[in-house]
Amino acid sequence: MKIIVMKFGGTSLAEPEKIKVMAERAVKTRNRGFAVVMAVSAPADLTDDLITLAGLITSKPQPREYDALLSTGEALSAALMAMAINERGTAAVSLSGAQAGIKTDSAHTGAAVISVSPERIMRELKKGRIAVAAGFQGMDKAGDITTLGRGGSDFTAVALARSLKAEVCELYTDVKGIYTANPTVVPQAKKIKKISYDAVMELARAGAEVRQLRAIAYAKKHNIALHLRSSFENEEGTLVGNFKPSGKKPRVVCFSIRKAGDTAEIRLIGAGLKDTGVKNVIRQTALTNGHLLIREAYTPSRITLATSFRSGERLLKNLHEVFIDTTEWTALSKVCSCAMDTVPVKAIE
Ligand code: ASP
Ligand code: MG
Repeated sequence: MKIIVMKFGGTSLAEPEKIKVMAERAVKTRNRGFAVVMAVSAPADLTDDLITLAGLITSKPQPREYDALLSTGEALSAALMAMAINERGTAAVSLSGAQAGIKTDSAHTGAAVISVSPERIMRELKKGRIAVAAGFQGMDKAGDITTLGRGGSDFTAVALARSLKAEVCELYTDVKGIYTANPTVVPQAKKIKKISYDAVMELARAGAEVRQLRAIAYAKKHNIALHLRSSFENEEGTLVGNFKPSGKKPRVVCFSIRKAGDTAEIRLIGAGLKDTGVKNVIRQTALTNGHLLIREAYTPSRITLATSFRSGERLLKNLHEVFIDTTEWTALSKVCSCAMDTVPVKAIE
């Protein structure tokens, strides 16, 4: 039996119409011959609303009750999703985290998964059903509901993928994958076909809301193939795996930007970046375009630059043009007399 885990984020489940579309996606995957396990988030904003609701009752909710409350968002999605799939004539069953076999420690609101017992899910799959697990939750030794920290449905998905030995863990959201930079800031940004776990972890650390850091670290540790893709389009997204850059040449894979007070922090993420040539190109680019670098920090996998808030987005565009557009990059590296004929992004195989 070939199993695919399909995880859907809250924006993909925000309305009944969207739940129906995602149900259809799961059915299509099943009709391609795969056993399907879904992990679902709470509908968009519901978790925040539940937190607000708790705050209207008490400023100090008991952690146990807080988790009991927060877990209901995902339970709601799972039950509605199972109904939507059944409605299309394919058998499906919703499962709470506990029913899905997710066992955790007792650290309420940020519990760690200790083990996953896949027996119940396997039984359902063998009956030909789609198993819809409520994300973000598990059960501790005492039998109490726990939650896995914000964004924790990602963790549910990778933990299930590992224990079920799934072919791939597909993470569906409202974005088409990981881009070389945020396309709303840099319209020329390209979708990255393959990216390493490390680069995605760097992005998560940079505050780009890509994925739960914990989940990516887990996927890396257990070598789980991830496919980040769009809920609303059929095109391929971004594959995350153990992709090692070939050779030792420096390469920039992607950029992030974050505002911090009156400064902007730009990160270049990639490999071999602690390099004089790269540093020269960055300084040259800043100088040519009239940006002042307030701070620079270089590690092999990450460069952090701070500039004025006003300069931020423009500097990002300038650097993107230089490092992601191969022609420019080659030209500039010649100017800076550093032999780097790297082909960013594509070079990561
Ligand atoms: N609903 C939870 C949250 O918003 C878990 C998740 O969506 O992954 O953090
Ligand atoms: Mg959510």
